[in-house]
Amino acid sequence: MALQGVGVGRGVAVGPVKKMPDPLPEPGTDPRTADAALEYDGVLKALSAVAADLTARGEKAGGEAKDVLDAQSLMAQDPTLTDDVKARIDDGRTGERAVHEAFAAFQDLLIGMGGYMAERATDLGDVAQRVIAALRGVPAPGVPESDTPFVLVAPDLAPADTALLDLDKVLALVTRDGGPTSHTAILARSKSIPAIVGVTGALDLVDGTVVVADAASGVVTVDPSPDEVAEAEKRIADRAAAAAAPLTDGALADGHAVPLLANLGAPAEAAGAIELGAEGVGLFRTEFLFLGNSSAPTVESQTSSYTALLEAFPGKKVVVRALDAGADKPLSFLNDAHEENPALGLRGLRALRVKEDILRDQLTALAAAQAATTADLWVMAPMVSDAEETEYFVTLGRELGLKTVGVMAEVPSLAVLADQIFASADFVSVGTNDLTQYTMAADRMLGSVAAYQDPWHPAVLRLVKSLGDAGAAAGKPVGICGEAAADPLLAVVLVGLGATTLSMTPAALADVRLELSRYTLDQARELATAAVAATTAAGARAAAEAVTV
Ligand code: PEP
Ligand code: MG
Repeated sequence: MALQGVGVGRGVAVGPVKKMPDPLPEPGTDPRTADAALEYDGVLKALSAVAADLTARGEKAGGEAKDVLDAQSLMAQDPTLTDDVKARIDDGRTGERAVHEAFAAFQDLLIGMGGYMAERATDLGDVAQRVIAALRGVPAPGVPESDTPFVLVAPDLAPADTALLDLDKVLALVTRDGGPTSHTAILARSKSIPAIVGVTGALDLVDGTVVVADAASGVVTVDPSPDEVAEAEKRIADRAAAAAAPLTDGALADGHAVPLLANLGAPAEAAGAIELGAEGVGLFRTEFLFLGNSSAPTVESQTSSYTALLEAFPGKKVVVRALDAGADKPLSFLNDAHEENPALGLRGLRALRVKEDILRDQLTALAAAQAATTADLWVMAPMVSDAEETEYFVTLGRELGLKTVGVMAEVPSLAVLADQIFASADFVSVGTNDLTQYTMAADRMLGSVAAYQDPWHPAVLRLVKSLGDAGAAAGKPVGICGEAAADPLLAVVLVGLGATTLSMTPAALADVRLELSRYTLDQARELATAAVAATTAAGARAAAEAVTV
């Protein structure tokens, strides 16, 4: 028997199922007997203990998990919720019941909003369970203890559980709920644990049943045959060997080099990326340095940040992007006007051009860092629409002393005009996140249209192909720096379409490196041809998978 879900990553695991214990029983509706003020005081103490515990878990886990747990800790201290709890206690409920009802009402609200917000409802439910457990003086329900490794099966996992998973014991995660943007998925990706989310029937699995959890296909095989186990074990061994092998540069099976670069948002992330074999940086998102600033950063402060980054990559390529402010990343000193559709507004290069002083300062700081270090600095502009904007940016960059200047392909018009862009650009880097958003007219922040946000769509792939073809004709590089480069099979397709480098979140480097090594350039092109001929995103993936090598 096989259960289907949505796989996260490329991992595979074999092992016995262990289910998450059931949630605490719902608090009863008996009226409160204790004094209201005392009862409320107890709840406040429990809330602050839970908040402190979540913060401490965040500190211990670090990274992305810390952000998620900090957000949960804030939920436990949300004044709207505590006011609601108080009102319910005043109304005659016990503290436990009041917490249960107030959090459930808030969860319903989030679920009603759909998409990303609905997936946060799980996080809130987990906070409620922790508070009720604290009030009862019992341990909060969590990941089961075990001396031997297991596949963890749960309705959904709370961030507090996923963040501190014992990676020696939990072989894989299988959840009934959750989509590709749930925290289970995000954290599993960052910890490289194979995960399959949205598996109908997952909770019918019985403890001890052996399963093969294959994230690459999203399939959970129940009671696998000896052959199925052997095949999974071979794949596990291959991945382990690839991860343990000395880090090699990215290359196809025929030796064709495909440099594997890292997407970074702060100089401090450089060391981790290098450890995972990043050959340089393909996208440094400078706006992340200044998200909280109310005024434009000075040339001096920027020079020191960029110098710190470049010093970590002596002799290596580092692609830095000019400030990409707007939509989900507003910078008050660049975008101060209200816009109905900020994703279609004055953002990226458009905003920088209006405030050219800020752009000049940034490029000046980058040129100073370039002069002070041995890294090979490339600088690019975000959200560029055509050849005129390209020429504007490249000319300004050169005037201010930058050696290599290019643009990102995120707006479909730029890809449509690909052949004109290389007249001035030294290189193009494809931002597949925005290119997909704009090609498919699907807001990347909106869960309800997440299905359209798929870079496998042949419309997106065809635009990448025209950029790849134009780059080849001009003899200039075309890199990929959107999330698409982190999908191993899609990475092969992108190379087949003409991508010369791939840049991604460092956690994805090993899987992409391994997948590339399985195909020659001719085979990658065969996969690409099959994918662009498909009519849907799913069809393109299936067509690429069907090409046997
Ligand atoms: C992209 O759009 O693909 C990209 C890499 O830029 P960001 O995700 O920062 O918008
Ligand atoms: Mg972008």
